[in-house]
Amino acid sequence: MSEWEDDNEGPDEAIIHLDNVSLTYDRGPGVAQISFSIMPGELTYLIGPSGAGKSTILKLIYMLLMPDEGEVLVNGYLTHRTRRKYIPYLRRTLGLIFQDFRLLPDRNTYENVALPLHILGLPRRDIRERVYSVLEDVGLADRGHHLPRELSGGEQQRVGIARAIVKNPAIILADEPTGNLDAGTAYEILDLLTFLAEENGSTVLVATHDYDMMSHKAGKLIEIDQGKIVN
Ligand code: ADP
Ligand code: MG
Repeated sequence: MSEWEDDNEGPDEAIIHLDNVSLTYDRGPGVAQISFSIMPGELTYLIGPSGAGKSTILKLIYMLLMPDEGEVLVNGYLTHRTRRKYIPYLRRTLGLIFQDFRLLPDRNTYENVALPLHILGLPRRDIRERVYSVLEDVGLADRGHHLPRELSGGEQQRVGIARAIVKNPAIILADEPTGNLDAGTAYEILDLLTFLAEENGSTVLVATHDYDMMSHKAGKLIEIDQGKIVN
């Protein structure tokens, strides 16, 4: 039994909770003794230099990796109790955004954003309505037919955001979402992401190495260096 299950002061309210989590790669340090809680609706930045362990922590949260030690609780799913076949159910409640966008190159904007809803088996008409509404939200209503290579970097990340929010996820995880963008576009993207998440009531965790950008932002900071929380 984990430490907090019999603890009334525990993270019952937390939507994300890491309890003394460690993960060591075969060839690489990973992260050690990471603990933090995030409450529903909170906006949090995970900040630290390259190699600090930010992506590792996000992967532990979407359960691409399982901890060697400690426990991760995400939206009611606990790592040590979540069998592999149930991880897709957890993932349905998450929206993931990546530095390199990860759009399907041979699908247009509309199809990239619609895909998560097709996977959920929604009726075609509902999908169409929802996708057009989300494309409107991210300012791409007139880009539905463009392939990723016909879009700017900022536009591609807007598609990435649209795809992440189209399912109304409880949690949005963004791994260096502005890392491939120029500073002006990066601010726009970050503002859009946080605005939409707030509107939606989503919990947002953004990993970034960009200290400059964070100095202007609202939200909680978790600072990590060499696999450990330093602030
Ligand atoms: P960040 O996202 O903050 O740049 P990462 O979480 O990617 O950091 O990496 C943390 C540490 O773990 C780094 O030292 C990195 O080299 C190592 N690492 C990350 N992924 C792997 C892997 N698949 N195999 C071995 N080592 C890894
Ligand atoms: Mg990373």
